[in-house]
Amino acid sequence: MSSVIQPCAICGTSLAGARELIAVTKPDRFEQAVGVPAQDYRRVWVECPACGAATDVLPPESQRLLPQVESAYYAIDFKNSSIGEKFVKIMALDPARSDNAMRVERVLTFCRGWFAPGQGGPLRALDVGAGTGVFPARFLERSGANWTMTAVEPDPLAAEHLKSLKRFEVIEDVFPMQRDIGRFDLVTLNKVVEHFDRPVELLQAIVPVLAPQSALVYIEVPDKETTVSRATDDNILGALHRHLYDLKSLLALIEAAGLIGLQVERIVDPSGKLSVFCFATTPAALRQRNQAST
Ligand SMILES: [Zn+2]
Repeated sequence: MSSVIQPCAICGTSLAGARELIAVTKPDRFEQAVGVPAQDYRRVWVECPACGAATDVLPPESQRLLPQVESAYYAIDFKNSSIGEKFVKIMALDPARSDNAMRVERVLTFCRGWFAPGQGGPLRALDVGAGTGVFPARFLERSGANWTMTAVEPDPLAAEHLKSLKRFEVIEDVFPMQRDIGRFDLVTLNKVVEHFDRPVELLQAIVPVLAPQSALVYIEVPDKETTVSRATDDNILGALHRHLYDLKSLLALIEAAGLIGLQVERIVDPSGKLSVFCFATTPAALRQRNQAST
C-alpha cells in the first residue's frame, strides 16, 4: 500500500492506497549523476486503481534534483561514446532485428491506409523527441519522396548530432514551443510520453500542430508489464520515466487529451522489449473522413 498523495496524472483518480507494483532501492545513473543519496533510497511504482497506469513516485531528493538533467541527459548516457556512433550502429542493424526498423514499417503501413494516394504535395511529419534520429532518418529512407520530416529535440548534444546528419529539419527546443512551427500530417512520439509529468497536457499541445484533415498521431511507450518482468535497475524503470502504460491506460491518456484512438496494440520488440503503441486522430478529422466517404 502506498501513501502517495498525488492523483493519477492520466485520469485524476487518487493514488492514496494504490497498489505498489515494484520498489527500486538504488538511485539510477541519472539520480547518481545529480547527487541523489543512496542511503535509505526508495522509489516505488504504483498502479492507478481506475485507469491502470503505473506512476513513478519519486523520493523528495530526486524530485528536487532531477529537473536539471531532464532535457539534457545524453551527456550522462553518452559519457564514453558518441551519439553519432550509436546512430550508425542502429541504422546498420538487420531490419528484422531492429526495433526501429519495425516501428518505421508499422507507421508507414498505417499511413498507406490513412492518407489518400497523391494527396497533393509532400506530407509533413513531425518527430517529437527525436533523440538519436534513427526513426526520422529511416522513415525518410523508406517513405520515398512523398514526405518531409521535422525533428524536435531539446537535448543540446542530441540536437547537434541531428543537425550534423543533414537529413531533415531540426528544431532544438522543448515541445511545445512558443513559436508557430506550422501544421503536420503526422506527429510521432516514440518513447517520449513516459518522460512527461503531465502527459495529458503534452498530447493536448499536439492538436494545434496537426493538419486539420489528416491529423495522425503515433505514440509508443514502454509497457507497464515491464514492472513485473524486468530487474529493478532496468532502464525502463528508471527515474526519468514518470508513467508506464498498458492498453487501457494508453487509451485513457489519448481520450483525456481529446484525441480518438484508432489502433492500440501491445508488441514484443525484436530486442525483447515490451511496448504499447497507439495511432490516434482528432474527432474533427475523423468526422470529416466519415463524411467524405459517404
Ligand atoms: Zn489513472
